Amino acid sequence: MVYEIMKYGDEVLRRESTPVAEVTDEIRQLAADMLETMYAAQGVGLAAEQVGRTERICVIDVPHDAEKPEWAEFNAAIPMPLVLVNPEVTSLEGVQRDDEGCLSFPGIYAKISRGEKVVFSYTDLEGKRRSATAGGLLARAVQHETDHLFGVTMIDKMSQLQRMSIAGKLRRLRDHA
Ligand code: ZN
Repeated sequence: MVYEIMKYGDEVLRRESTPVAEVTDEIRQLAADMLETMYAAQGVGLAAEQVGRTERICVIDVPHDAEKPEWAEFNAAIPMPLVLVNPEVTSLEGVQRDDEGCLSFPGIYAKISRGEKVVFSYTDLEGKRRSATAGGLLARAVQHETDHLFGVTMIDKMSQLQRMSIAGKLRRLRDHA
């Protein structure tokens, strides 16, 4: 099932998610539907809030060929797609500043600073706690999606000046939410 994607202005994007107590068939179905929704929208990540849900779960699929070669190699052991239940960023290293977009902010791209490498832990769909280290675009996606689960979106990571430069686009999105 393909969900409607919530856009900037929808109050659910500001909500903090609720930790998933147990990985049930309902959670597995939600993950499958979120992946279907993400692929239909040609995104590389999607968090529950973006489909109007508040379970602490996000999905990511960053193609290895979208990464710079050194990060493609670094991330090679991480299988895609990733379904992260109750994800937690445990450490960040380095800084990368690059264009970032979001399915809830269609047409808006901005340079956002993120950790270059991220160590994160999560529960998989079998209910097993795992941890992984990612770099590059995948590290950016993990930080972006985990932020969503705490009600934080990419505009919170922008400077005042960046926000001013997209104020008109934001207004139009909000008026259609
Ligand atoms: Zn997003």
